[in-house]
Amino acid sequence: MTEITSTPVRQVRPATEGWSQKLDAEGRPLLQFGSPKRGKPPVHLADLTAAERVERIKELGLPGFRAKQLATHYFTHYTSDPDDMTDLPAAGREELVAGLLPPLLTEVRRLETDRGDTIKFLWRLHDGALVESVLMRYPGRITLCISSQAGCGMNCPFCATGQAGLTRNMSTAEIVDQIVRANRALAAGELGGKKRGETTPERVSNIVFMGMGEPLANYARVVQAVRTMIAPQPEGLGMSARGITVSTVGLVPAIKKLAAEDIPVTFALSLHAPDDQLRDELIPVNSRWKVDEALDAARAYFDATGRRVSIEYALIKDMNDHGWRAELLAEKLNARGRGWVHVNPIPLNPTPGSIWTASEPAAQAEFVRRLVDAGVPTTIRDTRGKEIDGACGQLAAAD
Ligand code: SF4
Repeated sequence: MTEITSTPVRQVRPATEGWSQKLDAEGRPLLQFGSPKRGKPPVHLADLTAAERVERIKELGLPGFRAKQLATHYFTHYTSDPDDMTDLPAAGREELVAGLLPPLLTEVRRLETDRGDTIKFLWRLHDGALVESVLMRYPGRITLCISSQAGCGMNCPFCATGQAGLTRNMSTAEIVDQIVRANRALAAGELGGKKRGETTPERVSNIVFMGMGEPLANYARVVQAVRTMIAPQPEGLGMSARGITVSTVGLVPAIKKLAAEDIPVTFALSLHAPDDQLRDELIPVNSRWKVDEALDAARAYFDATGRRVSIEYALIKDMNDHGWRAELLAEKLNARGRGWVHVNPIPLNPTPGSIWTASEPAAQAEFVRRLVDAGVPTTIRDTRGKEIDGACGQLAAAD
């Protein structure tokens, strides 16, 4: 008689390393949706609509067209320095600029990769809160990964940002200013790696909301910031909505709201597991909105916008990289139709001794093969996290 032995499938369960998650009254990981009350950042031109800017200028006793001049300096020339604004009368210029373009982000530190084609900025906000953005050069595009909150209330067990909880929501202008500051650095030639003959304009072309925070938990300010990004210059940054990716761990009501906004941004769902049993532990917000609800909302986003949705899936060794999970994911996606979704498996950094470590290359290849065999478009992402940790728990991919 032959004894049939099968290798048991290893299942590593998500757990924090070196810290404990804050729990709610029922003993589940605490989720913070509301922003703690803190002193508000100063109101900035980028917080206001074009009409509000004119109104504000008139309140100061100045002609309305000054609003457009200031917006041009800020959104087209990326400057908040009164000395650059010689088209404004010298008398009162400093006060006008101080009132409408107050400093929002103070650079604390910058880290660059060896080749200089990635810069990670650490910014201090007016109240001392710290946030990050990461500027990356790719062939034919320049991507900025931005933060939408100081800290984060989603409490994911793998995440450095989530450990301290949510400090506060960022204002619209604080979100936008990350891009203006990055464009200023680009205009000054500070991002390396430019190839000879490279014709890409030296400005940020793509945005991913994969820095600190859950963007849809700061919904109104994030949407207003996106509107400012796509507004034509000089009223905004004149960016293409298609180059902007809004990602979420799955705040279903907010996904539905975003679908109804009529802004064709790229939408990404950070899924990381197709089954509730694992996802409840991996992404605590799954206790509120389950995998199927999040996928239904993602499909509805496609229906409303015609924009193909991205599913982000960090491959973690023996935790979520099993072949059966690839099949379950494919089944759930195909059950909602074809041609509406794309899966981006994200290879993690190998982290010796940690449970949060990279899948074996063979497991990764098998995971992708099963998705592709099931007809699901799948592309492994190149992540700059290999060199510099992104925020979002280092699981973030940068498009
Ligand atoms: S992984 Fe993203 S959503 Fe989760 S706690 Fe970290 S920043 Fe928040």
